[in-house]
Amino acid sequence: MSSFSQIIGHERQKHLLRQAWQHQRLAHAYLFSGPAGIGKRLMALALARLLFCPSGTGCGQCPVCRRIDHNNHPDLHLVEPVDGQILIEAIRTLQQQLALRPYEADRHIVLIDDAHLLNSSAANALLKTLEEPPGSCLLLLISSQPQQLLDTIRSRCQTLPFNRLGTGQISQILQQQIADPEQRELLIRLTEGSLTRALGSDHELYLQRRRSLFAQLSRLSPQTIVPLLELAEELAGDKEQLPELLGLLLSCYRDVFILAHQGAAALVINRDLLDPLTRLAHQCGPQRAGHRLAALLQAHSQLLTTANRQLIMENLLIRLVS
Ligand SMILES: [Zn+2]
Repeated sequence: MSSFSQIIGHERQKHLLRQAWQHQRLAHAYLFSGPAGIGKRLMALALARLLFCPSGTGCGQCPVCRRIDHNNHPDLHLVEPVDGQILIEAIRTLQQQLALRPYEADRHIVLIDDAHLLNSSAANALLKTLEEPPGSCLLLLISSQPQQLLDTIRSRCQTLPFNRLGTGQISQILQQQIADPEQRELLIRLTEGSLTRALGSDHELYLQRRRSLFAQLSRLSPQTIVPLLELAEELAGDKEQLPELLGLLLSCYRDVFILAHQGAAALVINRDLLDPLTRLAHQCGPQRAGHRLAALLQAHSQLLTTANRQLIMENLLIRLVS
């Protein structure tokens, strides 16, 4: 078994968990959701090793790590379905164990695999533990069918989605979120244009402009209304360049959208901005990233029919930062 840092892939999830652990901000309960067989359970076990391993690395070699891997550690509690169900007895046993102090480690770790197979009485019993988690306990729920879990269970867990999107899946999501075919077409055209320019002759100038625009935008918030209006005025004043500037922003927010949906970093156009774009994607989440993309597309079409560029830009920036 490899150490936590040697796990291949799922960089974002790994990073979030490690950061949370290092800053003592781990949630009481996580829901690792995503397709079966892509490494959610491995990640949960690796996290258990990270937390329990005396070397602080989840080395995978020491006796503690090995006992975790063999499901033979007294403070790691594994709950799995039997004959396609997790029954209330399993949850009651778990609750008795959690009522005791951990034997060796500083906390209990509970791993509930295929959590969507909790039957309804088991789910309701587990809910009590989630509502009032024992002080030193980390619950890791794993599910490929998270929508089958009780809302009340889901809402008490921090969801960590696991998946890798290919280009096809992303365009599917875009199709769902951007219903208007003309707008979808526009997005593809503008982002492809952006890619061409990013690789084209004005390379440096292009990168510079986009970086500064993105940085300006990142500093804005709904509370910074004056700088927001100033930027709107600056953009609106540049009538010739405005469509292209919107194209730049669109390519950035397309990347944010992809990253917010756990798309592969390889699909990102603005690679030099990968870190800030990833941070923004974490902040936004998939839904808001979609709204922002839609706001940009809308502004782009409004510019073709409306004269009041200032107003369009103000509305756009407000939607981008809220
Ligand atoms: Zn170890």
